[in-house]
Amino acid sequence: MNESFIERDCPLCKSKKYKLLLHIDPAHFIKTNLSLNTSVIKECGILNLPHIPLVKCKKCKFAYTKYGLNNRWLSVVYNEIISAEKSKNKIFQHSKRLLNLNIWNQLYSYVLKRDPSSFDSIHLLEHGCGWGDFLSVASSHGVDCTGIETDKRKLDFCNQNGLNVYSTFEEINSGHRFDIFLANQVFEHLSEPVESLLAMKPLLSTNFIGYISVPYYSDEKLQQSIKNIAHGQLSDKNLNSWEHLNYFSPQLLWKFINNCGFEIFNPTTDQTIPKRKMVNTSCYFRFNSESKSTDPNLHFPMLFYRFYQKLTSQKNRFVFKH
Ligand SMILES: [Zn+2]
Repeated sequence: MNESFIERDCPLCKSKKYKLLLHIDPAHFIKTNLSLNTSVIKECGILNLPHIPLVKCKKCKFAYTKYGLNNRWLSVVYNEIISAEKSKNKIFQHSKRLLNLNIWNQLYSYVLKRDPSSFDSIHLLEHGCGWGDFLSVASSHGVDCTGIETDKRKLDFCNQNGLNVYSTFEEINSGHRFDIFLANQVFEHLSEPVESLLAMKPLLSTNFIGYISVPYYSDEKLQQSIKNIAHGQLSDKNLNSWEHLNYFSPQLLWKFINNCGFEIFNPTTDQTIPKRKMVNTSCYFRFNSESKSTDPNLHFPMLFYRFYQKLTSQKNRFVFKH
């Protein structure tokens, strides 16, 4: 590999030991991904780069790309190769709107059920809010919505539409913690998912509810994709080594969230979901009871937290979805 890439160890357990699954040929995901601008792909030279290896950690069995593109190439991918127009048009699809409404219904119902007095002051944070389609659904009387988005095209679009969106979480100066947290199709893009989720922790209220969703990659699905590629068939568009660095199975998503001090639960029944019952890669989560009682970050008053955040901002730097 060369300087166009940044090498990675297992993002979940930090082990350096891995098994090669395949080298991802961009030809496989370009054809199936309709948001990509094929003329830019041909002209920019990205196809001359070596194919990125998809590997599996020998210790925790997590599948990840052994290399991520460097910042220059990431900027080409996110600002030039991905068509802004095609990406934006996705938010107007009925299925996407209905999904947003369903998620919002679950989150809002849970917060109101848990604390009916919070009706007038619910604070919501979306990490990687994209074109702001979810924030637009949730914005209403008594619901204060904030987003983080590093893609300038999306950020400008959100702010032009009256949404409260920043490019980094350090810029958020709300003076309060968030009751609702969302990251919808974000953590597969991040080079350091554990550090990113841990950095969010101090921004969340003790009784917050979170929603996370990542592309589904059970062992069987991953093996099937690899087999399809070996037989010359098209892979699915999510096996995209330029954008997606992490491939979560339901069990490893469960482990990732639990290891960060949270628990996955069903907001309708309020029951915790054990690992063996985790069947997909979209779920609701909250602090586990141990985190609530022992994590010092959760007990900092916000002013002290700002000071602490400044002191540690270098250490906690992480890459957002672009
Ligand atoms: Zn690992």
